Amino acid sequence: MQESKPKRDRTARRLTPEQRNESAKQRLARRVVVDGNGCWIWTGAVTHAGYGRIQMADGTGASRARVAHRVSYELYVGAVPEGLQLDHLCRVRACCNPEHLEPVTAKVNTWRSDLTAARINGTKTHCPRGHEFTDANTYRPPSKPNQRHCRACKHDEARRRRAADKALRAALAADRPSPYVTSAQVAKMAGVLPGTVRAWVRLGHIAPINRGCKPHLFEPNEILAFTAARRASIAIEGDAA
Ligand SMILES: [Zn+2]
Ligand SMILES: [Zn+2]
Repeated sequence: MQESKPKRDRTARRLTPEQRNESAKQRLARRVVVDGNGCWIWTGAVTHAGYGRIQMADGTGASRARVAHRVSYELYVGAVPEGLQLDHLCRVRACCNPEHLEPVTAKVNTWRSDLTAARINGTKTHCPRGHEFTDANTYRPPSKPNQRHCRACKHDEARRRRAADKALRAALAADRPSPYVTSAQVAKMAGVLPGTVRAWVRLGHIAPINRGCKPHLFEPNEILAFTAARRASIAIEGDAA
């Protein structure tokens, strides 16, 4: 898709004459390392989806960003037949080995990818937190019987939420200040706008103790740790600049 709209390229000016004279195969080879499976792993910039990105001159001499594995296939095998996509037989998106690429229809490509994802998930024996997927610990939603959910994690989350609610109710009953802070208080603590706090939650940098409930409440110590770490990393970036 992104290949069909050529863009005026700014990096073209930054290429040295030597780089411009380099053959396309040389440019590709310079950015590739071969791994144990024979994959040509792209070491340069990658797209959001994880495919290699390469600046290539088009027919008019202008340079534009292209997907590296497709460039490789065209260089070593030939044009990709109209309407077909290149499927990575090795399932390594950064791989540019033309022998690992096969032109297939979009339908086949999607079908193969889904199959791989299902196979990978199906072989996992433990949840991301390390609980085993035993029969007793596995919940399969009736509407999606192929999915597996970890019961231990669900219980932990419910317990955490109940404890937070209880602590909050106790604090309110005792007329003490709440042990938790709201989004607005987090913003004040961190010296940022409320929108930034919402972004941190979305990105998983900080987690409300009452996920799924409103308003969000946060553990002040967790916020202090996060803002301290953030300030430290900003200071390091500042030193480097
Ligand atoms: Zn490969
Ligand atoms: Zn779990």
